[in-house]
Amino acid sequence: MLARPAHLRLDTVLAHSGRNPVEFGGTVNVPVVRASTVLYPNLAAYESSRGQKFGALRYGRYGTQTAFALVDALSELDGSDGAVLFPSGLAAIAGVLRTLLHPGDHLLMVDVVYAPTRRFAEDALKQDCIETTFFDPATNETIGDLIKTNTKVIYCESPGSHTFEIQDLPAIAQVCRQRGLVLVVDNTWATSYFFRPLQYGADIAIQSATKYIVGHSDAMLGVATAKSPHIESLRQSVAASGLIAAPDDCWLALRGLRTLSVRLRAHQEHADQVARWLTQHPKVRRVLWPALERDEYHALWKRDFAGASGVFGVELVDVGSEGIRRLVDRLMLFGIGSSWGGYESLVLPSAVVRTAVPPRTRGPTIRLQIGLEDPRDLIADLEQALDGMPIATGDRRDA
Ligand SMILES: *Cc1c(COP(=O)(O)O)cnc(C)c1O
Repeated sequence: MLARPAHLRLDTVLAHSGRNPVEFGGTVNVPVVRASTVLYPNLAAYESSRGQKFGALRYGRYGTQTAFALVDALSELDGSDGAVLFPSGLAAIAGVLRTLLHPGDHLLMVDVVYAPTRRFAEDALKQDCIETTFFDPATNETIGDLIKTNTKVIYCESPGSHTFEIQDLPAIAQVCRQRGLVLVVDNTWATSYFFRPLQYGADIAIQSATKYIVGHSDAMLGVATAKSPHIESLRQSVAASGLIAAPDDCWLALRGLRTLSVRLRAHQEHADQVARWLTQHPKVRRVLWPALERDEYHALWKRDFAGASGVFGVELVDVGSEGIRRLVDRLMLFGIGSSWGGYESLVLPSAVVRTAVPPRTRGPTIRLQIGLEDPRDLIADLEQALDGMPIATGDRRDA
């Protein structure tokens, strides 16, 4: 068999990257290689292996072939110089920020970040004398005005958690380049399949692989892909801190990757049907999904993203917290629980915390993950649940 060409399209990369049948007796998939100790034929071989911590088997804490395969696949997908794995998405966020920031440094973080990311900055980083300023997701090219002499990192999450604002990454990246800052982006919502942050000027892209990459709600995993020299510092800091992604979880992520494109296209198509149906409903004020033409962030999304995943917000007419509880509890096909990215639909009331600017939502909001079920069944379920939801008197839907 000939070596494969260097530049392949993403669907082909998903099918072919991160596996090497020749190494494993011809099996299509890399097996789960579990290891702590790795044995050497003699002391000289053991000693000469010390330098090679990544990409070759040395000791279980630095990963086995299962992790190496996943790293290869994720690096190729993102067009990065490498990837490092973490035991969860939050561990990836914490690991990246701890690697880049030191006491006395300043961090600019978008106001719409995932709540545990905000808490990490407000608690753990603050304790280490690292100051964080949260910025309006619409700041974009004027972000330069917020930069201080000790600012080291700009952290984006595009679109933002619960309210789904897209940031103008190329504009922010340009400012970062001019001012020598590192740009980090949480790309969990889009995944590398719909958006590749490093191609739009980011230095480091983070994903909670727990979500769409694993794709079946049964493993926790985080990944950071990066350009040089950041990838080298990330590898060193992961090696020094003892963080490890378990081989079984890496294997589940590799399995998830093989179907990522078909799953995401289905999530997108189903979400499109459900979101458009919801926008017509009298008890819905607005659907927050950048793929909808009337969304404020639609133009930016369309310019930079190849697609939209199936997680969005639904702002309701003023139903009060009791109305939201009734709605959520009446749904039959939407599970109530944290996280998303599996094949199944989910619902949760949105807990929106903003400190830089008020949230773009005025009314009570829920977050839906649209799964792989038939969207007609999901719509029927939403219809019956919305029908049973009382509206506070005096509230009107926007014209
Ligand atoms: C879920 C999530 C994380 C954290 O990932 P875990 O794997 O649950 O730790 C980080 N960022 C975003 C945007 C998320 O949705």
